[in-house]
Amino acid sequence: MRFVTRFAPSPTGQLHLGHAYSALLAHDMAQEAGGRFLLRIEDTDAARCTEAFEAQIYDDLEWLGVRWEEPVLKQSQNTAAYDAALSVLADKGVLYPCSCTRGDIRRAMSAPQEGAPLHGPDGVIYPGTCRDRLWEDRTDTDAVRLDMRKAMTQAGALRQYEETGIHPALRLTAEHFIDQIGDVVLARRDTRTAAYHLSVVVDDAAQDITHVIRGEDLATATPIHVLLQQLLGLPIPIYHHHKLIRDEAGKRLAKRDDARAIAAYRADGKTPSEIRSMVGL
Ligand code: GLU
Repeated sequence: MRFVTRFAPSPTGQLHLGHAYSALLAHDMAQEAGGRFLLRIEDTDAARCTEAFEAQIYDDLEWLGVRWEEPVLKQSQNTAAYDAALSVLADKGVLYPCSCTRGDIRRAMSAPQEGAPLHGPDGVIYPGTCRDRLWEDRTDTDAVRLDMRKAMTQAGALRQYEETGIHPALRLTAEHFIDQIGDVVLARRDTRTAAYHLSVVVDDAAQDITHVIRGEDLATATPIHVLLQQLLGLPIPIYHHHKLIRDEAGKRLAKRDDARAIAAYRADGKTPSEIRSMVGL
């Protein structure tokens, strides 16, 4: 079986033990399978990504013993591909422009008839204020949302889910997609750059990824990715969601946990094999 996997960090902070685990696990699995290991820099959010963090990613990974194929795909250089994917979805009639700010959404959700706001993979489920707007009326400052109801009516979208059985989490009903996930953002407001769900799906296909190996914090996003793959006619990789590395209190590590940054362990004189055993590899 072909095996092509990747590690896809965002250069918005230092790599920590959780990233080390994810990168080493994917790298080890590719080696064991005689497959390929690729690197992708997910830097679409220009306001939060820096070149210094990107350079640190290469440096830390190399130190850990991770080797990847060149060239590295940088999402900031691949925006035309995301625009093309948006056009395909727009032609299917499943997108609409949205001008709501977070504040607008909060206010709409606190209207007396709304009840307690429901949360999906991206936070509060969008109440649908802009859902009737036409794609043609999109302005430069609008975000783009997927109309989940319309996405669900597209031929085959759900039938295939049931047949493939790629991952139990993907055997979801249309109601689940509509009520528990909702109209996710596929392009951001103001910057007009692709949002994570869209860019990740386009690039996993562009890089020919057969196996996505990533943390279980992203498991709730996977159904969105499989749906987009189906709408865009892209291959569906096999998904493996691994355990998260947690601190002593059981909390998952965050980018701001500088004490657990790989750079901090390196400065402390730790070796790559000590890092491996710390994460249980
Ligand atoms: N860029 C994402 C992150 O930093 C990972 C995306 C993925 O593996 O699908 O968490």
